Amino acid sequence: MAPVPAVKAVLQVYGVVQGVGFRPFAARLAREHGLSGTVRNVLGHVQIEAVGEAGDIDRFVRALEAQKPPGSHISRLIRQTEPLSPEEAPPEGFAIVQSGGGGEGAVMPTPDLSICPDCLRELFTPGDPRQGNPFISCTHCGPRFSIMRAIPYDRENTAMAPFPLCPLCGAQYRDPDDRRYHAQTVCCNACGPTLAYRHRGGGAAGGEAVAQAAAALLRGEIVAIKGIGGYHFASWPFDGRAVSDLRALKGRERKPFAVMFENLSSLQEHCEVSKVETELLKSPARPIVLLERKPSAICEGVYTTSTYLGAFLPYTPLQHLLLRKTGPLVMTSANVSSLPILKDDAEVLAFFQAHEQLGGILLHDRAILRRLDDSVTAVALGGAYMIRRARGYVPVALPLPDGGPPLIALGAQQKNTVCLYQGGYAYPSTEIGDLDSVEAMDVYQETVKDMQSLLRIKPELAVCDMHPGYASTQKAAELSIPVLPVQHHHAHIASVMAEHGLTEPVIGVAFDGTGYGPDGTVWGGEFLIATPETFVRAGHLKPVPLLGSDESVRQGWKSAACLLHDAGIAAPSGDSRLSLVHAALSHGVNTIRSSSMGRVFDAISAMLGICRESGYDGQGAIELENAAAGYLKKSGGADVSPFPFHLGEEDGKIVADLSPLVRELHALAQEGGKPEALAFRFHVTVSRLVETVCTALSARHGIRAVALSGGVFLNRLLVEDAVPRLRRAGLTVYRNRQVSPGDGGVSLGQAYIGLMSRRAKEGKAPCASLSPES
Ligand code: ZN
Ligand code: FE
Repeated sequence: MAPVPAVKAVLQVYGVVQGVGFRPFAARLAREHGLSGTVRNVLGHVQIEAVGEAGDIDRFVRALEAQKPPGSHISRLIRQTEPLSPEEAPPEGFAIVQSGGGGEGAVMPTPDLSICPDCLRELFTPGDPRQGNPFISCTHCGPRFSIMRAIPYDRENTAMAPFPLCPLCGAQYRDPDDRRYHAQTVCCNACGPTLAYRHRGGGAAGGEAVAQAAAALLRGEIVAIKGIGGYHFASWPFDGRAVSDLRALKGRERKPFAVMFENLSSLQEHCEVSKVETELLKSPARPIVLLERKPSAICEGVYTTSTYLGAFLPYTPLQHLLLRKTGPLVMTSANVSSLPILKDDAEVLAFFQAHEQLGGILLHDRAILRRLDDSVTAVALGGAYMIRRARGYVPVALPLPDGGPPLIALGAQQKNTVCLYQGGYAYPSTEIGDLDSVEAMDVYQETVKDMQSLLRIKPELAVCDMHPGYASTQKAAELSIPVLPVQHHHAHIASVMAEHGLTEPVIGVAFDGTGYGPDGTVWGGEFLIATPETFVRAGHLKPVPLLGSDESVRQGWKSAACLLHDAGIAAPSGDSRLSLVHAALSHGVNTIRSSSMGRVFDAISAMLGICRESGYDGQGAIELENAAAGYLKKSGGADVSPFPFHLGEEDGKIVADLSPLVRELHALAQEGGKPEALAFRFHVTVSRLVETVCTALSARHGIRAVALSGGVFLNRLLVEDAVPRLRRAGLTVYRNRQVSPGDGGVSLGQAYIGLMSRRAKEGKAPCASLSPES
């Protein structure tokens, strides 16, 4: 029988494939499949040349995807196969070869990875050369993006450059069969960074540093702990005074804190955890996951009014060492109120000098090069979604159609992110925060510059919000490239379309706090018919005059007064604040017409006496959801009828008037109706409103796809009620999963609009295949 002729396959593997042990894995797998050839890193991806029988190569490619190392992610695999010419000798064996230079294609830096099971075992193995080492790592784990100075990801380009390898680490680093082969973060107890604890009375190093920090925490002190993308402030969650001290230090009154648990079983004592939530908690990104809280010894000051607890697991060896001694800890970004997270030792030392309430600092001499907060996620309808996309996810690229110019999208004003695009990939940045401070603007500039140089993208187009007052909009004008302003809610909807590769028109439901409307009113309760290039406003909440000043946004009681006034309910006599609001509204003084759904949530929350004034962004709506969720849990939620609302028509648009709801809810509240029950009925009403309007628009426009976005859809209760309703009505529902439905996701939507508008202008087909090529 003649031998089966060998073929040569050249595979280009894109995604998160560098700095995650992908090359040794590919080499081992190729040998197992009887292939010969090479694997190498080229600029931003991995290139494999494999020679063997076609069937073996097929099986190899399938195994590559199925068995890929933890932390890696294949976003695109391009395969070219050619017969091996008879005179070409097949290569001997399968080799890992040095990084090739040049090479075109996308640059895909790896995100930071949590400690892997092998390293965790060694960390606590007596006699291991890395026992108790707070920097233990390997090719499968450790910091990446936060310590990367430049690409390629080689040690001299990282914050590990100042630490020479000892003979043991050097030998492992050079051994292709070792787990630490080319692990750029490798070090051991004989080499690498060192740990220290500083406190008011002196300091300690190494293991003693951890012991002293743990003792301070258990005494009720606040300790700053150096993490991956910045410092945390930590305190013991069972000590009410420690927690209130932490609130005072941060200037954070009510917003719940997240708690890090030493392991899953400890976490399960305090929270309900589903299978999907467990997977999320244990994923290499180790995000904070909002979980249903169980009654436990964690003090109320941690979670305040929330039925949820933001919980997460340790992701650095240092956190494991510390939490073994302390148990659960409140771990919150080291910053003051909404300023950027502190990451440099000098910043934290200066803070320590200025703030007596901070007991000590657990720090080390490996620099943090990029600021990254912890990511925050939740699960609704059995699937994870992003509330804040940061450490562990950034800078993973999301695939978009190819063929547009390199561009930068500058994001919104609140929860700002920027997003770069080049060659078929979008790179959303970490969440920078609200661009209201000099400090945040500095970080914003730094991020824009850093991402462009790291990803080697020179934007030819800037996409920004239409709001002339956004700091990000003003920055667009300074870039000296063409600027495309896009409408805020169109960008929200486009962010969903980008994630799901949608190019055909959708019914977009964009509910949020505020966004600039081109008609001079404030938008925020919008039904759009949207494509990636353009949109029409097909429906909206009836605009209600609201008092326009900035602080009014936080004052739910003021929005409530405006809604009541609009519904024709007189201010109660004797309340001078309310009389003033009504007088201002009657005379149209300092009012602005707004269709915001977010403000309606805040107003209802205030009307029900749940939250009259928000101490943090979204508090009114969040506490309203909590109350409703509590009611649902107790009652099962059966047989709750929605409040009435009225749908009218104006200029061909559906206009939803909620004043019947306001009147009835107000009357029931006055009669002593239970706030929790009314809060739940309100949620059901909003969900019914979404269903009714979407069904009408679907019939009118012949569109069955619905995209939900905007900060209001962070509300799990609303999502879990509205989505099944829409599905029962025969509609297909798309939501944000990989970026936040809040303003953190706006930059991705802006990028998609910029890309698709340019492609359309150049006559490119709107429908590009987004499925991975293979
Ligand atoms: Zn490891
Ligand atoms: Fe928004």
